[in-house]
Amino acid sequence: MPVKLNESLSILISAEEIQEKIKELSQKIEADYGDEPILLLGVLKGSLHFISDLGRLLSSQTTVDFVQVSSYGSGKSSTGVVQIRKDLDVNIEGLNVLIVEDIVDTGTTLSHLRELLGTRRPKSLKVVALLSKPEARKHQTQVEYVGFEIPNEFVVGYGLDYGERFRNLPYIAILHEG
Ligand code: 5GP
Repeated sequence: MPVKLNESLSILISAEEIQEKIKELSQKIEADYGDEPILLLGVLKGSLHFISDLGRLLSSQTTVDFVQVSSYGSGKSSTGVVQIRKDLDVNIEGLNVLIVEDIVDTGTTLSHLRELLGTRRPKSLKVVALLSKPEARKHQTQVEYVGFEIPNEFVVGYGLDYGERFRNLPYIAILHEG
C-alpha cells in the first residue's frame, strides 16, 4: 500500500447528490425493464456501495452476482491488460444482465467485459455506471445509464479506492498529492 504524506481530498460529489442520482437511475431502469427480471452484475470491488444502494431502490425482480477484473493494480493508471480475477457464479444465457460499474475511464475494462459476456448469449446486456470520464476514453463502449460525467481526475470514495484506501467515504472526492 503506497504511503503518501501530503495527500488531500476535495469533494466533487456529495453523499446527498449521489443518493439523489441513484434514485433517478433506479427510476429510469425500472421504466425500461418493466416486469422483466434483472441480473445486477457488480464489478468488484469499486461497485460495492453503488450496487447495494441501487439494488435496494429497484422494485423489479433482481438477482445479484459479481465479477472481478483487474486492469489497475494498486496505482492510479490502467495497465491496459484486463484479467478476470473472479468470474460469475451463474450462467447468464437468456438473462437480462445489467453490469453495475463504479466508473468508466478509458473504457478498456468495460469493452472487454461486454465482449466476453456477449458471447454467453444473455437476453440483454446493458451497463449502469455511477461515474464516467469522457475525456479519458480510449475504447468507445456503450454505457446505457450514466450517473455523473466528471473531469479527467483521479477520484476516490463511495467504493473507489487508492491502494485499497478511501472506499468507505460516503462522497466522491478528487485525490491530490503534494
Ligand atoms: P477503465 O478500464 O475504464 O480505464 O477503468 C475502469 C476501472 O478503473 C474502474 O472500474 C476503476 O476500478 C478504475 N478507475 C478508473 N478511474 C478511476 C479513478 O478515478 N479512481 C479510482 N479509484 N479508480 C478508477
